[in-house]
Amino acid sequence: MAIKQALEKEALSLGFAAFGVAPAEYNPAPHNSHLRWLDKDYQGTMGYLERGVRRRFDPRVHLPGARSVIVCAHPYYSEPQNDPTRPYVSIYARGENYHTVLNDKLEALGRKMRELAGDIFYKIFVDSSPISEKTFAVKAGIGFIGRNGMVIIPRKRDGKKPQSHGSFHFLGLIITDLELEPDSPREGTCGQCRKCIETCPTEAIVDDGVVDANRCISYQTTQNKGRIPDDIARASGNMIFGCDICQIVCPYNSGISAAAEPRFFPDPDLVRADLTRLLEMTAAEFASRFEKSSIGEFKYEMFRRNAGIVNENIKSGKTEH
Ligand code: SF4
Ligand code: SF4
Repeated sequence: MAIKQALEKEALSLGFAAFGVAPAEYNPAPHNSHLRWLDKDYQGTMGYLERGVRRRFDPRVHLPGARSVIVCAHPYYSEPQNDPTRPYVSIYARGENYHTVLNDKLEALGRKMRELAGDIFYKIFVDSSPISEKTFAVKAGIGFIGRNGMVIIPRKRDGKKPQSHGSFHFLGLIITDLELEPDSPREGTCGQCRKCIETCPTEAIVDDGVVDANRCISYQTTQNKGRIPDDIARASGNMIFGCDICQIVCPYNSGISAAAEPRFFPDPDLVRADLTRLLEMTAAEFASRFEKSSIGEFKYEMFRRNAGIVNENIKSGKTEH
């Protein structure tokens, strides 16, 4: 079996839903789109997105001599179960920290690659280094970018099964000096649908695939370390960490199955979170309780700030989305 096919088989057995390969080359078109996005100040306080921009779109900056970018998508969906009387934690943050889980799985895939190909170099990327995962996911034929800015996997790679994988997946990359046959970008489109744009409570989706982070509840509740603007705070309802609205309404996510990976099974305390208990938590309790979750990477003060906003919104009945 060729190395690429063996790696895809291994990736699927590790629980990834999609596997693809992009050439390790510079991508000027998404680089220019990113620069236009920065020009409009849509990045909010995420100053790190302004620095070393080229390396986000050029894998050879990360690994000199790189030939291929392997892209893997791992599903994480579970039922949203939104109760407007309780804080809502975004689905991606309800299980174990995805950085850890995907790193473990990509390390296993990297070991397999060495076993098959011998003395090669590779580097793993899971949303923590400056590389545009979405750019390479599209190039590797994983999916297309929807109007909500998410990578959507329209159907299984063999094209035979109409079941959608949707957008509830994490992306992980391996940049390697091993030459693998690249895949072609996959056909896919939102068609006439505009549900995500129409449903976003803060009108954060300002153009096809373009999200103004300043207006996005997900950014405001998880990235902004400062004060959340009043209009966004009121519109965020019961969302204490992240926002899934533009994904939940997406037809490509209709009927998708819950993720089979036990490490992404939702923590019951985060599905039906108790606001009083969260508000009473000390910094030490917060660190220990959420040590294994993505929430644990988050500053306690930000969590307290969000909990205070949710408390106000629940008291005033501003939590129906
Ligand atoms: S995550 Fe929420 S606030 Fe952000 S674009 Fe989607 S629906 Fe709008
Ligand atoms: S909700 Fe509709 S417009 Fe938005 S990403 Fe999904 S298919 Fe595209």
